[in-house]
Amino acid sequence: MSTKDFLEKDHYKTLGVSKTAKPAEIKAAYRKLARKYHPDANKGDASAEERFKEISEAYSVLSDEKQRKEYDEARSLFGSGFRVPTGSRTGGGGFNFDLGDIFSGTGDAGGGLGDLFGGVFNRGRNTAQNRPRRGADVETEATLSFSDAIDGTTVALRLTGEGPCPTCHGTGAKAGTVPRVCPVCEGTGQSSRNLGSFGISEPCKECRGRGLVVDDPCPACSGSGRAMSSRTIQSRIPAGVANGQRIKIGGKGAPGERGGPSGDLYVSVHVKQHPVFGRSGDNLTVTVPVTFAELALGAEVKVPAHRGAPVTVRIPPGTPNGRTFRVQGKGVRRKDGTTGSLLVTVEVMVPQNLNGKARSAIEDLREATAGQDPREELLARSKEA
Ligand SMILES: [Zn+2]
Ligand SMILES: [Zn+2]
Repeated sequence: MSTKDFLEKDHYKTLGVSKTAKPAEIKAAYRKLARKYHPDANKGDASAEERFKEISEAYSVLSDEKQRKEYDEARSLFGSGFRVPTGSRTGGGGFNFDLGDIFSGTGDAGGGLGDLFGGVFNRGRNTAQNRPRRGADVETEATLSFSDAIDGTTVALRLTGEGPCPTCHGTGAKAGTVPRVCPVCEGTGQSSRNLGSFGISEPCKECRGRGLVVDDPCPACSGSGRAMSSRTIQSRIPAGVANGQRIKIGGKGAPGERGGPSGDLYVSVHVKQHPVFGRSGDNLTVTVPVTFAELALGAEVKVPAHRGAPVTVRIPPGTPNGRTFRVQGKGVRRKDGTTGSLLVTVEVMVPQNLNGKARSAIEDLREATAGQDPREELLARSKEA
């Protein structure tokens, strides 16, 4: 293939899709063509083989969001031309050919296609791409006590995710056998092509970039070398988290592959209720019972604080029932080191059992205030408009 051919390649035309085709359309077109031109189905037909290569290459570019974007940009810059990647990519990979994508996962490919490819790609089910790949993000949940959510805590999180297969220790080979070094790429996982002044390398098609070939696949993982497993990690939950909050813990997700970074862990936090305190953002709330006399005459009342001695709140004379007082610095500690407030709401408690002295005092109060009708204004205003 000449450089000129390469520059003039139209991957969209190769797959018979429009430039605005959705990923699903591209995948469907590729499957159909790959089936038709697969070397196993066209034994000895060199033109079919060439076509199959073109189709594969077109799909490897168009199925990768980043590569497709670069390709589109290059084409818009150079007309129909295509700027060849010059190896600046991570891991030196030019094309990134993920057959696992068609064989597994969605399930709509059917077993037939996988079997068809199997002979050429060495039971390529789920075997990985060549370049380092970031591990998947993992979601989990944690339930915290009210106090732990405020103060921060360390929790044990049980995570289930994909890791090396324990049966074959990740090699993908059946017990008693070992993978052998790929004879095509001699274990490098890369194959190189010279295209005039351009040189490109791409994952070896024989071993799909692993550098190893498995003859007898491990029955537990079908040769993929991967399996689901559980692990428990200790994780720090920062102070001040609220019920329903989702915390990101960087690098604690699924491990990366081939030296790629781990994914992130997301923890959805559930906070249990406290018998006394509530939360309102960075503030704590508490409802404090008071007597009518305390509100009417004024008083200093002790109210509970979360962690630490009770605090004294001064109630001025004539305070209405339900008024909220702010005690600064007794709330939830914020990230910047400052602290929210304790919001104290007063609520009159009406005595259920009065002794003789209290009863007569209240009767005296009633007599003394007989001229004041607290509903007078309400009744008057109800006639307005
Ligand atoms: Zn295995
Ligand atoms: Zn190879």
